[in-house]
Amino acid sequence: MSDKNIVLHVADVSKRFGGLKALTDVDLSVAEGTVHAIIGPNGAGKSTLLNVCIGRIRPDQGHVVFAGTTLDQQRPHEINQLGVSRVFQTPEIFPDLSLLDNVMIPAFAKRDGAYRFHALQSVESESEIRDSAEFHLGDVGLLERRHQLAGSLSRGDKRRLELAMCLIQKPKLLLLDEPTAGMSRHDTNMTIELLKRIKARGMTKVIIEHDMHVVFSLADRVSVLAQGRIIADGLPDEVRANPKVKEAYLGE
Ligand code: ADP
Ligand code: MG
Repeated sequence: MSDKNIVLHVADVSKRFGGLKALTDVDLSVAEGTVHAIIGPNGAGKSTLLNVCIGRIRPDQGHVVFAGTTLDQQRPHEINQLGVSRVFQTPEIFPDLSLLDNVMIPAFAKRDGAYRFHALQSVESESEIRDSAEFHLGDVGLLERRHQLAGSLSRGDKRRLELAMCLIQKPKLLLLDEPTAGMSRHDTNMTIELLKRIKARGMTKVIIEHDMHVVFSLADRVSVLAQGRIIADGLPDEVRANPKVKEAYLGE
């Protein structure tokens, strides 16, 4: 794996919350076009690591480098403009707006941000953004419900809506925090199929996941966090066979 293929590099990151060491000396390299899973028991520091990558939490030590840019000073919306999108563990949607509006808003925000920052000559029209929003709602299986209010959706459907809100931004890197949490087996399988389709489009993804079925059907590489430290990193089969991992996680 040569350096130039590394899209996201987490270098020696540590983070404390008071006396609690949430992350200790974490190193992680994510190669372009791959799906990199981060697994580990509850409280291992997975969401904290993701929040460090998107600028919501500042590390006490270490750096995050995305596509050659060190993210130390960037604010979350600037990191988003660089091409990093994320799906949170708890969906962040606009409950009083329609599904269609929910998906169009991030596209407008991205367009207007890009326009301001880069003074683009041509920008997407509202009807192009609407077409794109409908495409992505179709992608996540919610197109027929596009005029419903987002607040009326089930928890699993809200997560799929949030995924469409990310996909419309055409991120270079998509970070997913337990994307199938709260979903039925049927919805989980649908989400796996969707994530496989996105993978075929070449988008790099970091996926935090508790569900082993999801991890082993999607991931190219797996890193295991336990008590804030990476205890294993490698191909899914290597990680699955690692006794330290079995002890820390699989036998939970
Ligand atoms: P995971 O996502 O792996 O379940 P988290 O990253 O959410 O774990 O949490 C790691 C540890 O840090 C946990 O012990 C959690 O209680 C603690 N923690 C997370 N966020 C905060 C915070 N903002 N303030 C204090 N403690 C926190
Ligand atoms: Mg978490």
